[in-house]
Amino acid sequence: MSYVITIDGPAGAGKSSVAKDIAARLGIKYLDTGAIYRAIALILHESEVEPVDDDIMREALEKITILLEDKAVLVNGFDVTGEIRTPEVDALASIYSAVPSVRKALLGLQKEQEKHGSIVAEGRDVGSVVFPNARAKFFLTASPEARAERRYRERIAKGKEADYDTILKSIIERDKNDSNRDVAPLTVPENAVYVDTSDMTEDEAVDFILAKIKEVLPDETE
Ligand code: C5P
Repeated sequence: MSYVITIDGPAGAGKSSVAKDIAARLGIKYLDTGAIYRAIALILHESEVEPVDDDIMREALEKITILLEDKAVLVNGFDVTGEIRTPEVDALASIYSAVPSVRKALLGLQKEQEKHGSIVAEGRDVGSVVFPNARAKFFLTASPEARAERRYRERIAKGKEADYDTILKSIIERDKNDSNRDVAPLTVPENAVYVDTSDMTEDEAVDFILAKIKEVLPDETE
């Protein structure tokens, strides 16, 4: 029987690395819902559609097709996988994802992924809105400073420009946007296991979550 595991949490809590690792260890699919919001925000911004809930937005959304491939995101046939990982798109995704019609348009695409087998879904509302019946739910977080420090190190390791204070400011801003929006705000889903990774390594977080999953789904994860 296929199953869904959800991992929600704020920016920079280590969700992506942890979720990818868990999916690989369980041999199931990884669903990065943030990539979908990033892709839609990029195309709407490039098409000069304002982030407001109006007819222009709804018409624009009807014309956009998003395709999720194993390691790529395609918008209207164009691969935007690299383009969506920039500080500019960090901010755009946070703004456009607060528009109710944007969230509504992307809900079906996310839910559909469940049909193709077991998944580890990662995002801001996957345990609360997209997969409320998930078999195991986690909320991964860390202090804003710990998260900014990680993002800073990630960018430096990739040879990209980085400034700790700017990253911290952007993380605090995104937390505020994501937590205060009217539709599907960032919250700890009911029944989710709360994991504070401020003082944990990535491996420790993965081991902790895997142990919990195995407790809840002993047969499926044998
Ligand atoms: O996880 P990631 O940083 O890639 O997400 C980018 C942005 O997309 C988040 O800041 C958030 O505003 C939005 N998002 C969302 N709901 C999700 C996943 C991402 O609103 N399930």
